[in-house]
Amino acid sequence: MLKIANLSAWYGHSHILQDISLEVKRGEIVTLIGRNGAGKTTTLRSIMGLVPKRQGSVVFDGEEILAEPAHKRFHRGLAYVPEERRIVPGLSVLENLRLGIIGSANRSKENERIDLIAETFPRLKQRLGQEAITMSGGEQQMLAIARAMMAEPQMILLDEPSEGIMPILVDEMFELFRNMKTAGTTIMLVEQNVELALGISDRAYIMDQGEIVYHDTATALLADKAMQERYCAV
Ligand code: ATP
Repeated sequence: MLKIANLSAWYGHSHILQDISLEVKRGEIVTLIGRNGAGKTTTLRSIMGLVPKRQGSVVFDGEEILAEPAHKRFHRGLAYVPEERRIVPGLSVLENLRLGIIGSANRSKENERIDLIAETFPRLKQRLGQEAITMSGGEQQMLAIARAMMAEPQMILLDEPSEGIMPILVDEMFELFRNMKTAGTTIMLVEQNVELALGISDRAYIMDQGEIVYHDTATALLADKAMQERYCAV
């Protein structure tokens, strides 16, 4: 589904991603782990086309997309939920959801998508008319994810979805990720909550100082406490 080869990315003159290569197969959940500043967010932003200076290869669904702007990647079926949720505060939950499908080829299916998303995210279903800003942080994060799912992406990139969220909602959110996977969405996850993330992942890559330093199955990494301590402590 996604194949990155020798990708480098820069912010100004700072060379942040150093020749990274990774692969996400269709239907997988793959987690990117590493300390703060390792380059995880920059990797997601590069996949989405949001880092202006990049070099290497990003192949999505068999096509090279490195040179494409973010909106073209969105039309190809890529979605990105950044760490800062960016819901529109003055709008209701339903209105926020509708925003997720504007500009998408699925626009004609708007009501159908809303019904499906409401079933998938029961917590939002109860709050469709509520002003989005009045919801808890976890609920707002779910809304940001649900809004990205409105366009029916093939693959979704999630940056630290559990950040600052009550544990009970985190569990609910990770259950949602499992359901999204079952429904056919490929997921790439950046997460500080390593055990929880590995618990739902197929495989994981470890980043350090802008490089991929290790990758393995989630099961093997879960058992490898030494590796986790070496690279995943904040
Ligand atoms: P965190 O968990 O703290 O978000 P991360 O692994 O996601 O960490 P990145 O956010 O990708 O790391 O940051 C990688 C490096 O790039 C850091 O050294 C950071 O300071 C730098 N960086 C990130 N964004 C920018 C920017 N807009 N301009 C310049 N440097 C940046």
